[in-house]
Amino acid sequence: MIDLRSDTVTKPSKAMLEAMLNAEVGDDVFHEDPTVKLLEQKLANMFGHEAALFCPSGTMCNQIAIKLHTQPLNEIILDKLSHVYYYETAGYAFNSGCGVRLLDGNNGRITAQQIEENIQPDFDWLPISKLVIVENTCNKGGGAVYSLQSLKEISSLCKQKNLKLHMDGARFFNALQASNTAVEDYRGLFDSVSICLSKGLGAPVGSVLIGNNVFIKKARKVRKALGGGMRQVGILAAAGLYAIENNIDRIEEDHFNAKKIAEALQQQEVITKVVTPETNIVLFDVDTKIGVEQYLKYLKENGILAVPFGKNTIRMVTHLDVSKKDADKVFSVIKNVKL
Ligand SMILES: *Cc1c(COP(=O)(O)O)cnc(C)c1O
Repeated sequence: MIDLRSDTVTKPSKAMLEAMLNAEVGDDVFHEDPTVKLLEQKLANMFGHEAALFCPSGTMCNQIAIKLHTQPLNEIILDKLSHVYYYETAGYAFNSGCGVRLLDGNNGRITAQQIEENIQPDFDWLPISKLVIVENTCNKGGGAVYSLQSLKEISSLCKQKNLKLHMDGARFFNALQASNTAVEDYRGLFDSVSICLSKGLGAPVGSVLIGNNVFIKKARKVRKALGGGMRQVGILAAAGLYAIENNIDRIEEDHFNAKKIAEALQQQEVITKVVTPETNIVLFDVDTKIGVEQYLKYLKENGILAVPFGKNTIRMVTHLDVSKKDADKVFSVIKNVKL
């Protein structure tokens, strides 16, 4: 099976397992795991922040950031397609007692102007706008990438209006590749950033939350309260380090494959719409006469897995376990569709 359901389905390679096997470990709740410390420091340095915290999931990173940037009764400004809104089980309300102000962005991207228009005025009967979250790339927006300029405008507005800014950078390395920018270009823009090691980078588990020393010290406490304090977790941090050292440069291939898949889909009569992929996510609509279920069934019978992503929409995600041969097979199955 060629599994295009998500870039989370990748399995650790032999070399990654080797790195895990050789990891030096200690009890990380006691701050004694050297491999975790190395990973955290490396990412903090990369982003020009003081510190970082290894967490079990991207959701936990986002939830910790929300908890620390807000008070109950505050409002978070974010796009209506955001992972934080869509896929984190209303955790912002459960963990932090916040509401959300949903913006209608461009494939998940919001602008400084939209944010400014949606800051709540200071009335007793309104929530206080406190935090802005940008998602780069935006999953539900088909892997859409923010321009550096747009993020700079958002950052300067947030500073001016006393709003905190968090970037959900689960696929930030995809964004860097696609926008031809470097991590250094983004320094100083965000109060906190979360990145996933288990998406395009191909590690089995793990995300990292990045921020200043005070923020990360508090984040460590919240992580513990959420049950995310881990012990000899250097074996997982080693997979993350391996991923950062070896799997960033190859992300380009995923983007190339996604473009090619989209091109093949565009030529099909049964496909009514394809969102032009900017990164590794392909969203497309199936003719309602055929339907999502039947198209997915056809794919599966031909050895390809994808996921339903809305009423008429299917999502395919390319990743490091999709070889060139796999990609060729996907093109041919799409082109020779019989329904
Ligand atoms: C995957 C993802 C996350 C975090 O997901 P976990 O499964 O909790 O690691 C956060 N934001 C975005 C945009 C994602 O795609």
